[in-house]
Amino acid sequence: NSVKSVVIIGGGLIGIKTAIALQKRGLDVTVIELQNRILPQVLDLIASLIITEILYKKGIKIITNTSVISIEGKNKRVEYVRLLTGGRISCEMVIICIGVRPNVDFLSGSGIKINQGIIANKYLQTNISNVYVAGDVAEVYDLLLKKHSLHPIWPAATEQGRIAGYNMCGIKTFYPGTIISNAFRIENLNIISAGIIEPPDNQEYKSIVVYDKKRQIYKKVVIKKDKPVGMIFVNDISGAGSIIKAIKQAQPIDISETDLYYSKLSKIFKNFIL
Ligand SMILES: Cc1cc2nc3c(=O)[nH]c(=O)nc-3n(C[C@H](O)[C@H](O)[C@H](O)COP(=O)(O)OP(=O)(O)OC[C@H]3O[C@@H](n4cnc5c(N)ncnc54)[C@H](O)[C@@H]3O)c2cc1C
Repeated sequence: NSVKSVVIIGGGLIGIKTAIALQKRGLDVTVIELQNRILPQVLDLIASLIITEILYKKGIKIITNTSVISIEGKNKRVEYVRLLTGGRISCEMVIICIGVRPNVDFLSGSGIKINQGIIANKYLQTNISNVYVAGDVAEVYDLLLKKHSLHPIWPAATEQGRIAGYNMCGIKTFYPGTIISNAFRIENLNIISAGIIEPPDNQEYKSIVVYDKKRQIYKKVVIKKDKPVGMIFVNDISGAGSIIKAIKQAQPIDISETDLYYSKLSKIFKNFIL
């Protein structure tokens, strides 16, 4: 309770939520982010800047394109951190929020196949037939990346838990795979993002974007050929669930900026039951 200043290493979802919570408690908060923007895994530059502006107005300091190389102090108390790009920031507390990693060490020598996480097949079974896997620790098929990867979010964990449970009971249930998606709220803004939010510089991809600065509404749908592969909705999330469904089902869409702005989904989806 006596701490007055904090450095948060990592400007992802957990780092930013922590920053807001501590700022509300009256602490002087600085967020250090390695990439060129906060929330880099879930927002593109424009959406990230909308959030950055809100945080700046609250007095939260954000330093991007750098990291912390050492945490310094005396008598077991933190006094400052040194930055990779030079300089130091005084603080009495450091919180490290640089991502999650499955704890799979206890499985070494078990014969269970592990990459970053435990590798799951289409029935969420590991390579050992009576061992199943679900949740943050599972490496499952990603429908967009077309390879196995981690999806450490709650909806993926519960769906996988249910399907692994069915299969363990002998009710054969196929797990098609998933995509990365996040729904969260920062101050008064509801935000949903999913899939590929920053497409590669490649003619196969195009982005439909609308940005109403005054109303803090930002919407982007990334399309590969004629199929949606990613989206960001800020401060107007109507229809976001349908777009996520279309991404998962590889459903073609035909969408204009106006349709997107007004969420005219019946026009967007052809032959698609919402
Ligand atoms: C700070 C934070 C905020 C989050 N916010 C969101 C959010 O807003 N939305 C969202 O969708 N997701 C969020 N997540 C992610 C979400 O919590 C996880 O995806 C979800 O909890 C995964 O469920 P799980 O059962 O796989 O793992 P967990 O919920 O982590 O449960 C695993 C359990 O297994 C125990 N355990 C670990 N190792 C062993 C072992 N060797 N033997 C026995 N037990 C063991 C652990 O102690 C733990 O109780 C957040 C995560 C964090 C950390």
